[in-house]
Amino acid sequence: MLKLLPCPFCGNAKVFLNEDDFGIIVVWCEGCMENDTEEDAIEHWNTRAREQELMTALQEIVQRLNRARHTDEVQKARDVALKVLEP
Ligand SMILES: [Zn+2]
Repeated sequence: MLKLLPCPFCGNAKVFLNEDDFGIIVVWCEGCMENDTEEDAIEHWNTRAREQELMTALQEIVQRLNRARHTDEVQKARDVALKVLEP
């Protein structure tokens, strides 16, 4: 059986499948269901846990490349990462 990954919005592992009133199977996240206000819901929706993790990893890669011996390949790799971090 396929396993659900943690919620991409908040990172919570407590996610489950449910059928809505229209017969559509949806994924529910306990973390996202805890929004008390409209503002909380919007802030939650606009957050991407995996994206934050990837951006942090990319920042660490750039820091390590900054300390690496400078070659054309190191510079090119750094430029690729910086295009994502500083569009
Ligand atoms: Zn969530």
